[in-house]
Amino acid sequence: MKISLQKSWPNNWESGILIIKNVPASIPIEEIHSAIQVFSKNSGSLKVRFQFPGSKPDTTNWVLESPATVLTELIHIKKIPLRWNMYQISEFYHIKRCNFCQAYGHTTKNCHHNIPSCATCAGYHSTKDCLSEYCFCVNCYSTNNLDHNNPSSYHSARDKRCPCYLTEIELYKKSRDYSHN
Ligand SMILES: [Zn+2]
Ligand SMILES: [Zn+2]
Ligand SMILES: [Zn+2]
Repeated sequence: MKISLQKSWPNNWESGILIIKNVPASIPIEEIHSAIQVFSKNSGSLKVRFQFPGSKPDTTNWVLESPATVLTELIHIKKIPLRWNMYQISEFYHIKRCNFCQAYGHTTKNCHHNIPSCATCAGYHSTKDCLSEYCFCVNCYSTNNLDHNNPSSYHSARDKRCPCYLTEIELYKKSRDYSHN
């Protein structure tokens, strides 16, 4: 199988992005592909987007582009067996968040801000220079009408439970509602 790496993200509704998590790094992508083929006969058109280290030692998360039909099939299966173990397969949400100002919808490259906002404490410094002992989310702060005392802002802007992040996921899901096809 030829493994192609494409830089652009799919904008059309005919394809989506899948992630298979915490697969042992020793398992080659060809073997993962064969395992997927058992469940979806159209999976020949899967493309590898990228891979990154899993949350367990010596594992890889594989991010694949797939046709919407295959994506729907695989999301229902939820897990695929590889060497007598099951691995979680799910839709990968591509949410853009700026690492400079922490806002959603653009990346650092396209950011118009001159002063950084820290992802940890919302201070005017870059996240890596943070010395703060508390977390404060700049996005929730804006949503909460700049109310410093609202406890629902007390988390990192990178927290996956951030209400602003969850809203972005809902918007993303709506924008990629395959049933509209
Ligand atoms: Zn920005
Ligand atoms: Zn900070
Ligand atoms: Zn937040």
